[in-house]
Amino acid sequence: MIIVAFDGLTKSYGHTPALGGVSFDVPSGEIFGLLGPNGAGKSTLIRILMDIIRPDEGRVLLFGEPRTRAHLDRLGYLPEERGLYTKLPVVEVMTYFGALKGLTRAESRRRALEWLEKVELPHVASWKIERLSKGMSQKVQIAATLLSDPEVCVLDEPTTGLDPVNVRLVQDLLVERRRNGRTTILSTHQMNQVEALCDRVALINQGKLVVYGEVGEVRRRYSRPEVRIAVRGPLPPVALAVAPVQEDDGTWRVTISNGAQPGDLLRALVEAGAAIDRFEPMLAPMEDIFLRVVGEGRA
Ligand code: ADP
Repeated sequence: MIIVAFDGLTKSYGHTPALGGVSFDVPSGEIFGLLGPNGAGKSTLIRILMDIIRPDEGRVLLFGEPRTRAHLDRLGYLPEERGLYTKLPVVEVMTYFGALKGLTRAESRRRALEWLEKVELPHVASWKIERLSKGMSQKVQIAATLLSDPEVCVLDEPTTGLDPVNVRLVQDLLVERRRNGRTTILSTHQMNQVEALCDRVALINQGKLVVYGEVGEVRRRYSRPEVRIAVRGPLPPVALAVAPVQEDDGTWRVTISNGAQPGDLLRALVEAGAAIDRFEPMLAPMEDIFLRVVGEGRA
């Protein structure tokens, strides 16, 4: 089921074009990566989704219907510009966030305390916001965004600036959302995170959608026909294996000759008597795909 559909979105700020007709679907229950270089139009797209700005043309469908203000209770948003400068206690601010999304104050407060536990900050409940460190403040805001359990949540660079332990903690929260059938749109520049977490991506460049698809499928699409092979003993010469190169760790990197599939090479090697421990088609890293596609756009 498609939970968010962007349909022909166009937006300019004065004479500056930001989106030039962007359409794509976000399926329900996925962690969806929204990628693109600075200035590509990601924030503009998100602001249109959140009804903060209007598109010049096009529309957003949510839950299969044209988006209305009533839908906004079912959306969560962690913007990139963060920072809550206030003397109010943490739990009060979080309770307020939940109440904005339609929770009763009592329920919202209960969840705020539960979410402070989840982000390993139960001791800060009564602290004033201004006393939080940057990382603490970031986790509090993530918790405040997620505590209403929004069906669709947009998180703009949620882990930037966090240490590896906290990055993992936040990633686990997103995986838990997916397990519960919730949809998360993750805007990030961290391509390792995309590979680790995202089911699908949309890459925007200069206001246009340039790559869209499941992460594995996109990586295969941009991959060279290469495999990595660990073999006991020598690698037998076979016609399908072009230019084998042995890496420092002893594994082989082999280009598959024109048009053949990895399975063909594997069969040929086994028939030639190779004792294969590992055979992995090499997928293009998301970072390479990003650099290639964005670089082509600049050329
Ligand atoms: P991203 O989030 O991918 O970095 P943005 O959506 O913020 O991209 O920006 C897309 C383009 O629109 C950029 O050229 C940017 O300079 C321009 N832009 C964004 N917001 C405004 C604004 N409020 N006024 C004028 N231009 C803007």
